[in-house]
Amino acid sequence: MSQTVTNWAGNITFAAAELHRPRSLDALRSLVARSARVRVLGSGHSFNEIADPGDGGVLLSLEGLTGEIDVDTAARTVRVGGGVRYAELARRVHEHGLALPNMASLPHISVAGSVATGTHGSGVRNGSLASAVREVEIVTADGSTVVVGRGERRFGGAVTSLGALGVVTALTLDLEPGYLVEQHLFTELPLERLDFETVAAAAYSVSLFTDWAAPGFRQVWLKRRTDQPLADFPWATPAVAALHPVPGMPAVNCTEQFGVPGPWHERLPHFRAEFTPSSGNELQSEYLLARGHATEALHAIDRIRNTVSPVLQVCEVRTVAADEQWLSPSYGRDTVALHFTWVEDAAAVLPAVRAVEAALEPFGPRPHWGKVFAMPADVVRGRYPRMDDFAALARVLDPGAKFTNAFLRGVLAG
Ligand SMILES: Cc1cc2nc3c(=O)[nH]c(=O)nc-3n(C[C@H](O)[C@H](O)[C@H](O)COP(=O)(O)OP(=O)(O)OC[C@H]3O[C@@H](n4cnc5c(N)ncnc54)[C@H](O)[C@@H]3O)c2cc1C
Repeated sequence: MSQTVTNWAGNITFAAAELHRPRSLDALRSLVARSARVRVLGSGHSFNEIADPGDGGVLLSLEGLTGEIDVDTAARTVRVGGGVRYAELARRVHEHGLALPNMASLPHISVAGSVATGTHGSGVRNGSLASAVREVEIVTADGSTVVVGRGERRFGGAVTSLGALGVVTALTLDLEPGYLVEQHLFTELPLERLDFETVAAAAYSVSLFTDWAAPGFRQVWLKRRTDQPLADFPWATPAVAALHPVPGMPAVNCTEQFGVPGPWHERLPHFRAEFTPSSGNELQSEYLLARGHATEALHAIDRIRNTVSPVLQVCEVRTVAADEQWLSPSYGRDTVALHFTWVEDAAAVLPAVRAVEAALEPFGPRPHWGKVFAMPADVVRGRYPRMDDFAALARVLDPGAKFTNAFLRGVLAG
């Protein structure tokens, strides 16, 4: 049966004619083994062709499998199936009095798809979501299963793997005791004399938002764990109304604010699981660079705000602690992440994307793997010191390049 398959944003129509939903692990193994080219679609929240197997390839979803979520309270770990989304996972983990260390801005995304692209939340001490993964189970090209655990040398390539090694059917994640978080929102933080390091460290997770219509930030979101001190924040004005980061969108879509304490999974994401996250009509780009360059990079964007602002819905600035996944955009360096939620018009947005890339070029930015970028593949490749190690691992686990698509070919070839 032929159908049109698109990503969440609707800007990508996959070339694959069909979305396969195997109903058992055996069916999945046999589909993989007999297919020439395969890519997995998670929850489809990426904005580019990263998941597209290309014409004639098999696009596979794990939605037909029972979504395993197996919490081990004694070991403080959870084993989670390859199709499970953070919203379900977080609810179950919370029921056991445990918690994940961090979440992205929305809980709607799949765990496997998120860690595959280096997805992150914020916090100067919080690594990307992949940092919580201790073991990954992959169905490889011949249909057999490979398990890779933390401590193995090849683990560095196995989690943020862009789907290039095989189908991730399960992941085991570290948990910690449950905790409460409060959101304190502020408005109008000037860019002038911004002490970025201090601001970014003012809470467990900090996000700055602006539309770049003027210098400085329209909103600051501090997410404070109640088991950590509440820092003063004298640089901006406390918000007097509930806010949505995207101008004009209703604040009811967002997680509770005004310092009301709540469980970690109902405060760390900005958007509630039961509402459309962000604006819904959008494209996104994001660039990750060494945190030490944050202030210079923000001034570089401020200098091109007349190009950026007309096609921008909102820009979010976050931090990510260095991690050890070879293809993670925050690999090996404490990071600042400059995110752009654009209007939905790709042709209008592209000149702004190029202008942002040119402005950030002195700082060696790595684009988010799941978002829109214009940087040539060889430039992206050069930003990853362990790219050759990853390509070698991909050749071992997937010698026929069954899981490599056009998007990855340019990046991995060297
Ligand atoms: C509204 C919105 C908000 C966002 N907020 C954030 C944010 O806060 N932080 C951030 O860093 N990013 C954010 N993103 C980007 C998003 O987290 C990434 O695009 C992420 O990859 C989405 O996960 P997914 O399951 O939808 O992946 P998909 O887009 O479905 O797939 C991404 C990649 O993972 C692979 N993959 C998926 N599942 C598997 C599997 N089981 N086995 C093997 N490979 C697999 C796919 O083949 C593909 O290569 C946001 C996106 C949207 C739309």
